Amino acid sequence: MSNVIHIFTGRAIDPATGVLPLPGECLGCFVHRMVEEGGCSDGFGWVEHYRLVRARRAVTLTQRLTNQGCGCDCEVVSEVWEPSPELWSVDQHSGALVAPDGLPPCTKVRPGSTQPCTLWVPAARLAL
Ligand SMILES: [Zn+2]
Ligand SMILES: [Zn+2]
Repeated sequence: MSNVIHIFTGRAIDPATGVLPLPGECLGCFVHRMVEEGGCSDGFGWVEHYRLVRARRAVTLTQRLTNQGCGCDCEVVSEVWEPSPELWSVDQHSGALVAPDGLPPCTKVRPGSTQPCTLWVPAARLAL
């Protein structure tokens, strides 16, 4: 529970990113939240921030994302994963699916995981 704080003890929080994932918050929800609040880093700034704080041993994380055709934070939560279909709404007028404005609270993952929580699905599944 106090894992995050413990790992960060004695470390200065990067002023550019000075935000921590919430307890149990998954990579998808964290990156989504940060992209909404601070914008995309145009690289894996938020992903790498999450990894350093929460999943230090996942050294191949950004490599794996790159292999999936993903190039930056915002693509992780749009190209690799997308909010689960239940979270989307249908536009009353056009009938088009509308991406959720904000997400419900993260349903949590175990410490050290770089998997998204149940709010996320692989983006390819939605595109079908
Ligand atoms: Zn981006
Ligand atoms: Zn989540």
